[in-house]
Amino acid sequence: MFVHYRSEAFILKRVERGESDRLFTVFTKEFGKLEVLGKAIRKIKSKLRAGAPLFSKSEIEFIQGKTFKILTDAILIEEFKNIKEDLGKLEIALKVSDLLDGLLKGEQKDKKVWRLLGETFDELNNCSILHTLHSLIYYHFFFKLLKILGYSPSLASCAFCQKNLGTKISFSFEQRGLICYPCSRRLKKEGDSTIFEIRAKRIEFLRNLLEKDFSFLKKMKLEAEDLKFLEKFSKRYLAFVF
Ligand SMILES: [Zn+2]
Repeated sequence: MFVHYRSEAFILKRVERGESDRLFTVFTKEFGKLEVLGKAIRKIKSKLRAGAPLFSKSEIEFIQGKTFKILTDAILIEEFKNIKEDLGKLEIALKVSDLLDGLLKGEQKDKKVWRLLGETFDELNNCSILHTLHSLIYYHFFFKLLKILGYSPSLASCAFCQKNLGTKISFSFEQRGLICYPCSRRLKKEGDSTIFEIRAKRIEFLRNLLEKDFSFLKKMKLEAEDLKFLEKFSKRYLAFVF
């Protein structure tokens, strides 16, 4: 007899396999990230078809097959319809699932990640169609996920000497954090080419993204150039951390 496992899950990715199968990447409440194979799920008659659309929350049941976990049941809980009807939102949902899939290795239950994903999908589904808000939802997810996984940038004191940051503050990707003026001079001489001077306003953005909840972040004033900065920063930071 097979053991049947059940859990709520966010459907993050799906890839077609063979003639009628579909391989899902899901994040489950009980088991963390998993890959589950939906056998013959693309056939019209499949009772699983409607239960696991992309970017939805479903209750799934699976058994452990020889190679894959096999989906045996899927009941749709929340469809997040607005995400699918807006290209901008869809793009953010894709980025969220790519980031999560890329950063989480192996299967591990994580209540905080589960909650963060839920909050992110809810916000994305319910928010108005402002581009800045979409991006903010992504960066909120990005920084909070880094924090949960233990990869936050160091923003409180100098990442190199641990002392007070002083006034002329820089950021070093190599050091993964803010650095004070004397350290920035020293590290540059030693060949750290990832150092750049960072404005107080941007330091505050980063701190808020890491520490504050979304209801607070929504009130932040983000200009187009701030979003550009966050885009560059997040990509570069990822490249240094992973
Ligand atoms: Zn220092």
